[in-house]
Amino acid sequence: MTIKANIQQIQQQIIANAKQCDRDPKTIKLIAVSKTKPTSMIEEAIAAGLNAFGENYVQEGVEKINYFAQHHPDTKLEWHFIGPLQSNKSKLVAEHFDWIHTIDRLKIAKRLSQQRPANLPALNVLIQLNISHEETKSGILPNELMDLAHEILLLPNLTLRGLMAIPEAEAEFDKQFAIFHQMQQIYQQLQRTIPTIDTLSMGMTNDMTAAIMAGSTLVRIGSAIFGSRQYN
Ligand SMILES: *Cc1c(COP(=O)(O)O)cnc(C)c1O
Repeated sequence: MTIKANIQQIQQQIIANAKQCDRDPKTIKLIAVSKTKPTSMIEEAIAAGLNAFGENYVQEGVEKINYFAQHHPDTKLEWHFIGPLQSNKSKLVAEHFDWIHTIDRLKIAKRLSQQRPANLPALNVLIQLNISHEETKSGILPNELMDLAHEILLLPNLTLRGLMAIPEAEAEFDKQFAIFHQMQQIYQQLQRTIPTIDTLSMGMTNDMTAAIMAGSTLVRIGSAIFGSRQYN
């Protein structure tokens, strides 16, 4: 399968899943997770019509962003930082990315706001929830959400857009759905107090359908587009 064919298949699946739960497929955004993959593969994805990419590692992401700024200056791309962020690397994210999905501390949010260059629009941020209550996972617990959300709203160079989660891996659809449904309820609750919230980032290659059924507005797909990853 080519990258183009993979993308078409995912797009068709998004349309089919949306139909199954009476949603408009246009309300579900597909971002291609390109971590560990070369720029040539991202170029193929762009040729197939995608323009939003997710990266997990700051250095690698910045190199790719710079590559595209130099080699494809007329292609408007959107870069999402979706990995854990250490505070000593926040400046690079503030200077280069359009979105960050993994905010779970006020300290990092403050740094990003301070470090966001004045000539760029506000950085779009999602708060990451540790929805499966995993010991080692990043993300905040649901009962910490409202405080952090209201603190972030006060930061001038960030725009709080919503929530993100990476639930514990589950093979069964019903279990995947149950967790995503909890996310949806928290998301709707947040929307009632902060009406500008419009993004619920959940769903990866193995749980995309359950995420869409539970109201995801942004799916982050890596291996179904680019093939499996190899780490050194
Ligand atoms: C790697 C990654 C993805 C993509 O995962 P696939 O299973 O390859 O689709 C999505 N979100 C995050 C946060 C990731 O780290």
